[in-house]
Amino acid sequence: MEKQKMDRKQEKFKILKFGGTSLGTVERIKHVANLICNNELNLVVLSAMSGTTNSLAEIASLLFNGDIDGAQRDIECLKSKYIEVADKLYLSAKSIEEAKKFILCSFSSLQTIAQSPISSKQEKIILSQGELLITRLMHIYLKEIGIVSVLLPAIEFMRTDRNGEPDIHFIKRNVCKLLKHYPNNRLFITQGYICRNVSGEIDNLQRGGSDYTASLLGSALNACEIQIWTDIDGLHNNDPRVVSTTAPVRTLTFDEASKLAYFGAKILHPTCILPAKLKNIPVRLLNTMTPQAPGTLISDTADTGKIKAVAAKDNVTYIKLRSHYKIPCYRFLEKIFHCFAQS
Ligand code: ASP
Ligand code: MG
Repeated sequence: MEKQKMDRKQEKFKILKFGGTSLGTVERIKHVANLICNNELNLVVLSAMSGTTNSLAEIASLLFNGDIDGAQRDIECLKSKYIEVADKLYLSAKSIEEAKKFILCSFSSLQTIAQSPISSKQEKIILSQGELLITRLMHIYLKEIGIVSVLLPAIEFMRTDRNGEPDIHFIKRNVCKLLKHYPNNRLFITQGYICRNVSGEIDNLQRGGSDYTASLLGSALNACEIQIWTDIDGLHNNDPRVVSTTAPVRTLTFDEASKLAYFGAKILHPTCILPAKLKNIPVRLLNTMTPQAPGTLISDTADTGKIKAVAAKDNVTYIKLRSHYKIPCYRFLEKIFHCFAQS
């Protein structure tokens, strides 16, 4: 027991983030459960099952527009999807009951919110349900197959500051404090994307923000590696939806990866590289469907000096502006950027 404690102290966490498509079906949830049970010290970050956050956003938008009936219909439809997942995922009646209790509770809170038009505060609560659901379903599944895991509520440590940026010190202090309660556990699960804001309300890190959760936690815990698991074999040298003969790029520097993500590579959220870069934590992009494939390793040791990949942004508008020199150049630029920031 004492030895185990000592080992845990010296060992570094690995952060494993799984995206919605990796968790899109019952079979895939089971497959992810297998991947994370490798007896390493893992903190697993899960995104909502594919389609869920879009459905929740649609429900919120119906409510903003006062379409209560439409929203209630969509809630009912999403609820039956989750009930079906629970029926198929578990073997024991006890697990099914535990999962359904959680699902019904989550959907009844949605039904209550959806009785009248909503505020943006309530929208955030609606959007948070997908990650809360999948992490609980996974936790119950692991228990059913005899694996001990700890479910960490992200809203206890993920927080943004008054500028809406992650509060790095708060995150580090609070995730470490929480982990101290479990000195002998090796498998932790938490929600990507969701957080609290500076006023303590439920909020999120923007769409696709689970990658960001993973890298912020990697940085907070000084992890040995951050793994982003998706449904493609690493970052490709071009967009596979447009170019048929693409291939995965094996190594990238942090700067190359963030530029590619910023300019259109969908595999990675653009904000997620910086926390890893600042702590020099390697980020590995892996494919849930072929876990043995090498994927892409993003680190500070990758070779530079050659073109590795091409990314493109769609729907770019080219605007040409001319100043009449009535105001100083910096004022002119300020006005332009102000307009863009508001649009
Ligand atoms: N589930 C959230 C979304 O779809 C967060 C994520 O996928 O990273 O935007
Ligand atoms: Mg998602």
